[in-house]
Amino acid sequence: MFIAKEIQTAAYLFASILFILSLSGLSSQESAKRGVLFGIVGMIVAILATVMGEGVEGQIFIVVAIAIASVIGILVARKVEMTGMPQLVAILHSFVGLAAVLVGIGSYLDPATQKLVGAAHSIHLVEVFVGIFIGAITFTGSIIAWGELDGKVPSKPWSFAGLQLMNLILFIACVGCGVLFCQAEGTTGLLYLWIMIAIASFIGIVLVMAIGGGDMPVVVSMLNSYSGWAAAAAGFMLSNDLLIVTGALVGSSGAILSMHMCHAMNRSFFAVIFASASLGPKGERKAMEGEVTALNHEEVAGLLKEAKSVVIVPGYGMAVAKAQFPVYDLVQTLRKSGKNVRFAIHPVAGRLPGHMNVLLAEANVPYDIVLEMDEINEDMPSTDVVMVIGANDVVNPSAQDDPACSIYGMPVIEAWKAEKVIIMKRSMSAGYSGEDNPLFYKPNSEMLYGDAKTSVEKILSYLK
Ligand code: NDP
Repeated sequence: MFIAKEIQTAAYLFASILFILSLSGLSSQESAKRGVLFGIVGMIVAILATVMGEGVEGQIFIVVAIAIASVIGILVARKVEMTGMPQLVAILHSFVGLAAVLVGIGSYLDPATQKLVGAAHSIHLVEVFVGIFIGAITFTGSIIAWGELDGKVPSKPWSFAGLQLMNLILFIACVGCGVLFCQAEGTTGLLYLWIMIAIASFIGIVLVMAIGGGDMPVVVSMLNSYSGWAAAAAGFMLSNDLLIVTGALVGSSGAILSMHMCHAMNRSFFAVIFASASLGPKGERKAMEGEVTALNHEEVAGLLKEAKSVVIVPGYGMAVAKAQFPVYDLVQTLRKSGKNVRFAIHPVAGRLPGHMNVLLAEANVPYDIVLEMDEINEDMPSTDVVMVIGANDVVNPSAQDDPACSIYGMPVIEAWKAEKVIIMKRSMSAGYSGEDNPLFYKPNSEMLYGDAKTSVEKILSYLK
């Protein structure tokens, strides 16, 4: 069953509008669910309009493939833990990259496109080449990002002095392949495509491996952007307007998000994507000075009873421990006894943009007590107790005073300026960036070792 071209165009326009509404819905927590719904409906309309378009053959196979893929997608999405979302997102980006590579090769070998002549032929070849280039970088880069986020690839930056020069030479080699590819007769250019795919895949690997764990938020959003551009390129190859629009939406929103992330981390966008941020002079890190002292749960409860103002800094460990529910219980208990309790959210806390906001929203924490880093930092000196719950890099003072630290320059929550800091984690291990944290050694800091959820529940039992 086919639909007329005009109906397909109208459906594409409708789906594009739904995608734009979806993106705007995702910009705030209140409207996020509605945004997701718009996205789902838009995607259903888009798929139906494409599959039912004139000239599409083997619809039954497409429907079966979509059904199988949907079941796998639903099963994986239902199973994945919140803390595993970044890995899932990264691996999904790699699929988009791989799809762009496959679509490009298919489009190049398609007998219909072989009949193109003149400018139309040249433009098509450039579309194929650029689309595959972006797709191959996205594919391997996303796999490495998945490995880094999943702890399978070390998050310490891997780089050497000639890295940028090597990347430049590889890029020029790809341009050379592109020139030869466009001049090749028939399908003989396939050889240059394979060579370029190998080089671009290698570039994808080294680009991401050279970026340190602390800068991973930018990598994730950047790969998100690349996957959008790869999809847009596939749209050009297939002459599919909707794919071009959707790809451009994902590509540009991912690029804007990357810039926001860079701004939040005080990084130059280009320094991160070309991995030069990791190559600056490092020297030796300052030695950790001071003594680490620890409290027990009862002592922490005692401190909280005396405090008038409390700030909670959540981090990745709170997500791992799923401690957001007891944390909100604790907040309610403290607020009932007249204390001013607020959350301080760092823009890159956790492993996803907005990760902490999502967790706190899940526990029904009211938005008015959830403050951004910039809003709360100035209140730190007048705060009695800061509770750092499973956070590490986002409260690391070395980001301000140790140029040898890989997260130097990243704005952080200035927890150490409070009267007392309680750091809740299981051990003295480093944060995601792999950097030690001098906050633990400050005279006003106290460690509370253990799983965040268990610790909060124990503190609560002493307060109630
Ligand atoms: P970190 O990863 O720096 O530190 C988390 C801490 O949580 C660890 O030191 C760990 O210590 C502790 N922890 C782990 N499990 C538990 C548990 N069950 N109970 C209590 N503590 C626990 O987290 P931050 O949120 O401070 O910083 C985020 C980092 O991730 C930044 O470097 C950021 O750049 C990076 N990143 C962020 C992304 C984003 O988009 N937000 C994406 C990719 C990376 P211990 O093992 O001792 O318990």
